[in-house]
Amino acid sequence: MVMFISMAYSKDYRLGKIVQPIKQSISLRLDPQKDNFSGATRIELQIKQAIDGIRIHAKNINMSKITIIDLINGASMMLTPSQPSEYDIVTLQAPKTIVKGRYKLFIEYVAKVSTEPEGLYKFSEGKEHYLVTQLQAMKARTVFPSFDEPSFKIPFKVDITVPSEYQVLGNTPIENDMTQGLYTTHYFRQTAPINTDVLAIAVGRFTARTIEGMPISSTLYTTKGQQLDVDIIRRDIPTIFKHIQAYFTVAYPYQKLDFLVLPVYSGAGMENAGLITLHQELVAFPKNNNGLGSYESHKLIAHEIIHMWFGNLVTMAWWDDLWLNESFSEWLARKVVNRQFPQFNGELNLPQLDAFWDDTPSTPAIKRTMKSVDDYNAIGQIVYTKGHAIISMIEKHVGERAFQLAIVDYIKKFSGKNVSFSDFIEHMEKHTDTTLYPIFNSFLTNPQYPLVTLRKIKQKLRISQQPFSDTTACDKSCSNEELIWHVPLRLKFFTHQGIVHKEFLLESNSAELSLPKGTYAVFADGGALGYFRYQVKGVENNSMDWMRHLSRQEKRSLLANNNDLVKGGYLKYADALVLQLTLLKDPSLSTELAANIFNDLDSDFYDFVPLTLQGSYRDYLTNALLRSTEDVRWFNKTNESDKLRGNSLSFLGTKLLDKEAINFSIAHFQAIINNESSLSEFMKSMVLKVIASNGNKKDFERFKRAYKTSDSALLKNSLIRYMGYFSYQNSVTDYYDFLFSKDVNTTEFKGFYLQYPIYNPKNRFDAIRYLENNLSQLFSRVAEDDKQWQPYSFATGCSTALRQKLNKLYRPYLKEIKGLKDKLANVNYMISNCENMQKDNFSHLKHLLQTQ
Ligand SMILES: [Zn+2]
Repeated sequence: MVMFISMAYSKDYRLGKIVQPIKQSISLRLDPQKDNFSGATRIELQIKQAIDGIRIHAKNINMSKITIIDLINGASMMLTPSQPSEYDIVTLQAPKTIVKGRYKLFIEYVAKVSTEPEGLYKFSEGKEHYLVTQLQAMKARTVFPSFDEPSFKIPFKVDITVPSEYQVLGNTPIENDMTQGLYTTHYFRQTAPINTDVLAIAVGRFTARTIEGMPISSTLYTTKGQQLDVDIIRRDIPTIFKHIQAYFTVAYPYQKLDFLVLPVYSGAGMENAGLITLHQELVAFPKNNNGLGSYESHKLIAHEIIHMWFGNLVTMAWWDDLWLNESFSEWLARKVVNRQFPQFNGELNLPQLDAFWDDTPSTPAIKRTMKSVDDYNAIGQIVYTKGHAIISMIEKHVGERAFQLAIVDYIKKFSGKNVSFSDFIEHMEKHTDTTLYPIFNSFLTNPQYPLVTLRKIKQKLRISQQPFSDTTACDKSCSNEELIWHVPLRLKFFTHQGIVHKEFLLESNSAELSLPKGTYAVFADGGALGYFRYQVKGVENNSMDWMRHLSRQEKRSLLANNNDLVKGGYLKYADALVLQLTLLKDPSLSTELAANIFNDLDSDFYDFVPLTLQGSYRDYLTNALLRSTEDVRWFNKTNESDKLRGNSLSFLGTKLLDKEAINFSIAHFQAIINNESSLSEFMKSMVLKVIASNGNKKDFERFKRAYKTSDSALLKNSLIRYMGYFSYQNSVTDYYDFLFSKDVNTTEFKGFYLQYPIYNPKNRFDAIRYLENNLSQLFSRVAEDDKQWQPYSFATGCSTALRQKLNKLYRPYLKEIKGLKDKLANVNYMISNCENMQKDNFSHLKHLLQTQ
């Protein structure tokens, strides 16, 4: 029977299952100095029933010769390509029916090299030219005609012909080279079965450094033009690798594992099978660094290595389960780095903290329909942040060891295959003998997160839940009064006889528990991994007495929870502030936690302290912190951690305007812009922040001069960022003019730089005014995918007038820029929220600040 294509595929964004690729060869002729390239590909196919054409992905590819050969009888015919559909699907029409059987499909084509960092893109550094691929997501189709869906995992055989002076890197080692005239063809070994997203090619001249101590061949490549210090990651990659491999117990699945450090940002990193790419700003360190690297660098490397198993060996069946790749890699990356590199204190970066931020009522759930690249680009951070926070919570619920055994077995069972949410859940439930579906499902398919209320009623504790955010703030699409989560709670009851632990799964609107005798305080987030917010009524007691018994992570959870309760309107900021100050003065507080509190105070300032109260806030905190016996001017103490020193310098120097902090910064400024300072990178940034926050136009000009003359990418990066912190008259215009000037080239320019002046309420209307005249210029500078995110620069805003101007500013673009409408709605929500919160808090805060 002949299936007519239009009938056979109801979901027209998918290729369907009738044509199954078996393996694919790709030959490309590339020259980094040219704008086009040519290619030929050969795909072996199993056709499961008679069809009149073959559906394949191809975008901006000009196919010239398409032949199909029947492998049984050798008969061949020419096929004709249709116009691509909106999902980039081209039908290769046959002149007569293609019957069931084995075939080889040949296609010759030409295509364009991309100038944006996706697909096959080019970039230059001085006289050096490069071509690199970034195929996630759905970009392989711009480089070769392909079955560009994650569920088609096949072996690839790649050969690349380039001018002989260039090197070529790929997923596998090179088998042999052949030079003819000025060109050399590099033949790579066949890959293991992989999905198209993780295929990779890089052409250019690279510096290669062997990574010693790896159980497989492993080389770290940097581009020739760069003098980067990658010794720290080169030293630590084997440790990271070893512990990941030990967790999985399953052998590394590919032939080699190389790393390519790139100056161009095409994502922080990419998990190409056997050739991980990393963005240099995240993994290269200056010579005078503390020798540790950073939590982010190590977590990024771990994340990408883990993908070799989670993502590449076991792959999501379709994009709606992207979290199966991303959340798991992020969850395990934190675990490995927290355990092997305790110096970073990663355990205090509680997984849920970053996640709450953009999990608003108008952010769609993690699991959602995905059809196209646009759907993929609209996801944002949530599959990483919320996803791994949920996994951490459920791991705690199941037990770490039982969870690991189930995961190891999962990797073994689905090795080389694709998985869906239901495959995963079925496996995990069976293996751990625990009901997990309702927990996973409620957190993955509901937007936002629950607020759990614990209320003492006589000798009982009533526990109830509701969505954390008021859903009336957004339109109908996010009305969710009926939302229920299955919340695993780990309660700690503080009684006169000691601490009583109790695990409880809240499965409905409300439930009751009996209170242990003599309970005087309750803590709802034992272990500090809950993806929910909590408030305690009727028992909680704000004394240090029980809080002292909480772990560092639990104290962090308590502080962060308070902060969110304030934002949600469930707690007064004044009360949260008092708790922060009480903890800061507790001599037993860990310095890492103190650093965190300073960081919170710093970022809370613009959120919670209205302009009219800033003066009395300064007086109050100066009194409480700087005139007390404990000296919190930690920036002066060279034996303290960088984080504590830097955070105290920033808060004291930019918010309390402390003379000593400012003088400290002035004393170090010149050496920093001369690139001669011995301070750590973080301290240098904080000094620049203090100088800019207190500086005038003259200082701004010094930043600008230093930027133009410096050849340190790292220093330039800091300078351009902190130039956004000036707030003298006209500073916003000066800053934005500079960003858009020729002094900041395309690779240096980032759309998110625009947000820096906007942190400061004083600058916000100047920023809007500037953009009213220059928005088209901004859009012409940022990548297509980033345009929709631009309103986020104003996410810290806090007034109706600003919101109205913002909506007016972006209104003309709502139709033409995909995703912009949703992002703008989100920002509207955040701004309204902030405004309401400041209003609600005003009198309480004023009252507190007057009681000295
Ligand atoms: Zn990832």
